[in-house]
Amino acid sequence: MNFHVLTLFPELINTVMNTSITGRALEKGVIGLECVDIRDYSHSKTRRVDDYPYGGGAGMVMQAQPVVEACNDLKKRVGNAPVIYLTPQGRVFDQKMARRLAQYDDLIFLCGHYEGIDERALELVVDEQISIGDYVLTGGELPAAIVMDCISRLVPGVLGNDTSADEESFHDGLLEYPQYTRPEEFMGLRVPDVLLSGHHGNVDKWRRQKSIERTLYVRPDLLENAVLNEKDREYLKEIGG
Ligand code: SAM
Repeated sequence: MNFHVLTLFPELINTVMNTSITGRALEKGVIGLECVDIRDYSHSKTRRVDDYPYGGGAGMVMQAQPVVEACNDLKKRVGNAPVIYLTPQGRVFDQKMARRLAQYDDLIFLCGHYEGIDERALELVVDEQISIGDYVLTGGELPAAIVMDCISRLVPGVLGNDTSADEESFHDGLLEYPQYTRPEEFMGLRVPDVLLSGHHGNVDKWRRQKSIERTLYVRPDLLENAVLNEKDREYLKEIGG
C-alpha cells in the first residue's frame, strides 16, 4: 500500500506517520508514504495558495489551481488511484470503508485547510469524500493520518501478529472483549479466572459473551448489522437484548 498525500503541511503527516507501528512499517517498506506540498504548485512569488471567498464571509479558501495541478502531476506518476478528500461533509469513516480502501495499491488523500477548497477543484479531481466524524478540525492532515493509520493495520506485515486485526472491535460488527495483562491482581482487582484457566474453549466463549454484552450496553446500534450466530442470539436474549 502506497499513500500519497496532497497537503500544505507535509511535516504534520510525516510526524504522525513516522511514529510507532506505522513508522516501523514505513521503515520496513511494508507501506509507503509520499507527501506533495500543494504550495510547490503555487504560481505566485510568495507561494500563496489561498484567497478570500467570493460572496464574502470569514476565512480564506484554498485556490483550485495549485490543488488541481498538484493532483494531476501526482496522478501522472501514480496512475488511477482514487483521490479522497478529507472533509466534514463526506461519508463518515468506519472499519468497513477501511477494509475496502485497503484493497488498493495506491491511495491519494487531499487535505483541506482554512475554510476548505474551491469547489471546482473538488469537482475536477476528487473521487470520494470522507469525514472522520461530525465535528470540524482546522485541517485534513490529522483526518488523513487517522484513515491511513487504520488502513495500515489491515496491510499484511504491518501488525506483529496478522490475526490481531481480525479479533478487534468492529471486525464482525461487535466491540472487542476486555483485555488484561500481568499482574494477575492489581489494586485488589483480579483478572477473570477463565483467562487464567488455559481452557481455550471457555476463553473464546467468555470473550464472545463479553463482546456481545459490551456492544449491547455501549453501542446497541451496532447489533443491527453484527454477524451473530444462534448461540450469540440466545446469549443476547438472556442478557436482555
Ligand atoms: N468550511 C468547511 C465546512 O464547513 O465544511 C470546514 C473546513 S475545515 C475548517 C478545514 C479542513 O479541515 C477541511 O477542508 C477538511 O480537509 C478538514 N476537516 C475538518 N474537519 C474534518 C472532519 N471531521 N473530517 C475530515 N476532514 C476534516
